[in-house]
Amino acid sequence: MKPIQEIYPLLKVPRKVVITMHQKPDPDAMGSSLALAGVLRQIGHQVTVISPTNWPDFLKWMPGNKAVIDYEASAEKANTALDGVEWLFCLDFNALHRTKHMAARLASLNCIKILIDHHAQPEVNAFDYGISETIKSSTSEMVYDFIVDSGYGDLINEGIASCLYAGIIGDTGSFRFPATSANVHEMVAELKKKGLQHSIVHENLYDNFLEDRLRFIGHVLLHRMEVLYEYNAALIAIPKADLLKYNVKTGDTEGLVNYPLSIQGIKLAGLVIDRDEERKWSFRSKGNFDVNTFARKYFNGGGHFNASGGRSAESLAASVQLFKKAIKENESQLQ
Ligand code: 5GP
Ligand code: MN
Repeated sequence: MKPIQEIYPLLKVPRKVVITMHQKPDPDAMGSSLALAGVLRQIGHQVTVISPTNWPDFLKWMPGNKAVIDYEASAEKANTALDGVEWLFCLDFNALHRTKHMAARLASLNCIKILIDHHAQPEVNAFDYGISETIKSSTSEMVYDFIVDSGYGDLINEGIASCLYAGIIGDTGSFRFPATSANVHEMVAELKKKGLQHSIVHENLYDNFLEDRLRFIGHVLLHRMEVLYEYNAALIAIPKADLLKYNVKTGDTEGLVNYPLSIQGIKLAGLVIDRDEERKWSFRSKGNFDVNTFARKYFNGGGHFNASGGRSAESLAASVQLFKKAIKENESQLQ
């Protein structure tokens, strides 16, 4: 993988470009992709944004959202966009399998692949150019740097600023997490000068749910959360019946895994959801417990030091037992 800076001089020649992100995109994945698309289109590139799957309603206000193709729902349209693509930007993921059903097509593409990402252990051989820095708060911060360093900072308008800001607040927990550097605050100051209306972005992301979702959260915290004080850990396990009863949609479970971490002394939180095809895990930690390694070792996943995800093929009950066994094995690191 060659350094990302080597493509800066090539940006001025218009090309057929596709930008893609990880499945079930979050504010950072969608925000960074739409921001980059907004800038590249102004330069004159022909840009299509493809998401491997659907995405939450609370991201649909983003400028450019309507033109995003859902690969799972519209594979033919997405594959047409991929025919003859010259540049493929891969944002907010670093291993092709994170694009689910799209992975095989992406691997077979004979085009230039460019990675911009902040997760650990990138598949560097899958990309021609790129930047992978785990210290970065978000891919949105990295896309901002890409735009400014390549000389196109003037093209950032209010809409692009709002996409980048959404990614920043999503991945920093609204400026809480340790990766929120001085650079992040300086970047946001610059976005404000571009017209960013930050409170509207917060409202769009966090005050935009249906009653069902709040009732669902209440139910889950009351009935589905187990606190394992002995290990400074907590676990939420959600059966399929709850998803049906509360009409849970893509994005409704976002943020749920953070609640147990607000309990005094809790260092590790696990959330498992009984999805049709697998049991999908999210992990969050505080301090020096590495959930990237934990997710890789026990749950076929990965991510960041303090936020990761994974999956297991076992039943919900068996998967919960696996978690309990795993925290027992890691007892000393959790003290
Ligand atoms: P979330 O819990 O919000 O789904 O994911 C937390 C972080 O871990 C995100 O940065 C996400 O990209 C990453 N992540 C989630 N699931 C997986 C997975 O199955 N494999 C890998 N490598 N990363 C994941
Ligand atoms: Mn991210």
